[in-house]
Amino acid sequence: MSDIRYEAPTTLSAAVALLAAANGHARVLAGGTDLLIQMRGGRVEPALVVDIKNIPEMTSIVVENGAYRFGAAVSSMGLMEHEGFSKAWPGVTEAAGLIGSTQIKGRATVGGNLCNASPAADSVPAIIAAGAIATIVGPEGKREARVEDIAPGPGKTSLGKGEIVVSFLLPKRAPHSGDAYLRFIPRTEMDIAVVGAGINLILDDKGVCSDARVCLGAVAERALLVKEAAAALIGTKVDAAALERLGAAASAACRPIDDKRGTKEYRIKVAGVMARRAAQIALERARRTN
Ligand SMILES: Cc1cc2nc3c(=O)[nH]c(=O)nc-3n(C[C@H](O)[C@H](O)[C@H](O)COP(=O)(O)OP(=O)(O)OC[C@H]3O[C@@H](n4cnc5c(N)ncnc54)[C@H](O)[C@@H]3O)c2cc1C
Repeated sequence: MSDIRYEAPTTLSAAVALLAAANGHARVLAGGTDLLIQMRGGRVEPALVVDIKNIPEMTSIVVENGAYRFGAAVSSMGLMEHEGFSKAWPGVTEAAGLIGSTQIKGRATVGGNLCNASPAADSVPAIIAAGAIATIVGPEGKREARVEDIAPGPGKTSLGKGEIVVSFLLPKRAPHSGDAYLRFIPRTEMDIAVVGAGINLILDDKGVCSDARVCLGAVAERALLVKEAAAALIGTKVDAAALERLGAAASAACRPIDDKRGTKEYRIKVAGVMARRAAQIALERARRTN
């Protein structure tokens, strides 16, 4: 392995300048729970590693006009331990809380989970269902992007050279709204999702679903935002018939691979089941909030 330059800037502008000026291959380092394993395995050999964990706006959770913004380098544990955030977004919190062991959760970040671009990443369907907007900073300045536009395929992102995902803005919680994330794995913990399902929904005063977002993980080359599945819920009281249509639409959207964790047919079936169950949990949560 050749020499690696390690930098830990304390400002975003310094981090962007380092990445933009890099001669060879440069990588952002957040928790390192994907990157360090890839480096040790020789799959990536960066000449420069820029640690972003010392940049305040990347490691904080703030409320902006009633909406939560969390830094892309906040650890899973940081989200789980934030009382206000975990109460407002239990589905996003449970997705982050499924990532690895206690030790991994202390390091792993949602920004790293997204930018590693695994189709099975757990937090990604949950934040897409939440309607998260990412703030990205790079040599050309600041821009915003929908999270569903950032990781189009395995190991690929739409980020340009020197760009860093800084934070995620989740919309202000509407009354009677709730989210949930469920995943299926062959083991009880510490495994990669066979299917993940994130659902966020809003009810009106009469208990009718006025808005919903449904996102599936591990059933395609990317996290899938399934508009047909959301449409099955909108305008209904999320009754048994609506849940049945949701499950069918979720299964119909899948284009999974076969692997040792499950066949295509199995994943397609489980996706419908997970989507229905996640919707029921989100519904219960929405009914409890005011
Ligand atoms: C034992 C173990 C168990 C695991 N279990 C799970 C699991 O259950 N579910 C799951 O989804 N994942 C799991 N993972 C994978 C990993 O922990 C997650 O993907 C984690 O969220 C990655 O975050 P990180 O901060 O460690 O990323 P890093 O390893 O620091 O970075 C990952 C990639 O993203 C880039 N990057 C990081 N942050 C940014 C940013 N802000 N802007 C631009 N690029 C960035 C890096 O350059 C790198 O390419 C597991 C890993 C291990 C080792």
